[in-house]
Amino acid sequence: MQGRIATKPADFPSLLTAEEKPVVEIVNADGSAPIVLVCEHASNNIPLYFDNLGLSEAERQSHIAWDPGARTLAVALSRALDAPLVCSRISRLVFDCNRPANSPTAMPQKSEHTPVPGNLALSPAQTEARIEQVYQPFLYALGEVVARQRKLHKTPALITVHSFTPVFFGVERKVQIGLLHSRDATLARAMLEAADGQSDLRIELNQPYGPEDGVSHTLDVHGIKNGLPNVMIEVRNDMLGEPRSAAQIATTLEKLIQTALKRLKLTNGGVI
Ligand SMILES: [Zn+2]
Repeated sequence: MQGRIATKPADFPSLLTAEEKPVVEIVNADGSAPIVLVCEHASNNIPLYFDNLGLSEAERQSHIAWDPGARTLAVALSRALDAPLVCSRISRLVFDCNRPANSPTAMPQKSEHTPVPGNLALSPAQTEARIEQVYQPFLYALGEVVARQRKLHKTPALITVHSFTPVFFGVERKVQIGLLHSRDATLARAMLEAADGQSDLRIELNQPYGPEDGVSHTLDVHGIKNGLPNVMIEVRNDMLGEPRSAAQIATTLEKLIQTALKRLKLTNGGVI
């Protein structure tokens, strides 16, 4: 893998206790829809080894450590669509599974305004240990689910589920749902078209950020490379705070996904 540092396995610290494993959660593994759902930022769990990365509890609860509400939304979608869902069980501050292993933002030294003391001056062995014990198991588990779906369905759709903070670096974000894409905009555009008449929410393509911000790693590795339709859904997290509103967002997104896949003739004979 590009950027990997060769280090003897014996040098690796063990980052997780037996109770803290596995690092990946798979929900509805046998889901019948031609879809793979992914939630890379599902958890703000920081294993004991890291001593909270030097952060306060309030910081660990904030959006810098995870996507608040995203896992709840993704599980609701998994249930509604009957689709398998792959979630990381580790905070993105330990390793951001939506980044390549060699990305400087995979183990960020600062997130928005907050320095992350536990990510400063990492040794090659510490860096490699996180790649080996957090990133690679996620990459492998997601790859397995995608491979299974490709055996069962011609072109399953890869759909990643995220949330974003309403205010970032002091700037208020008006967009409510972003449909992000990189080189293949087919599914994102089909969902946007489906929203016309089905939703009053402010929904935009590649907002509040886009592939130029380095957020398309999962789409590129598991979607584009396999020739699968793909989209990254970003929901403003103030709409996911209440269970009722989160359920409404899930219902809206389910409709948009169903309509888009039908229009693209990707519904596996209308099974979803
Ligand atoms: Zn995210």
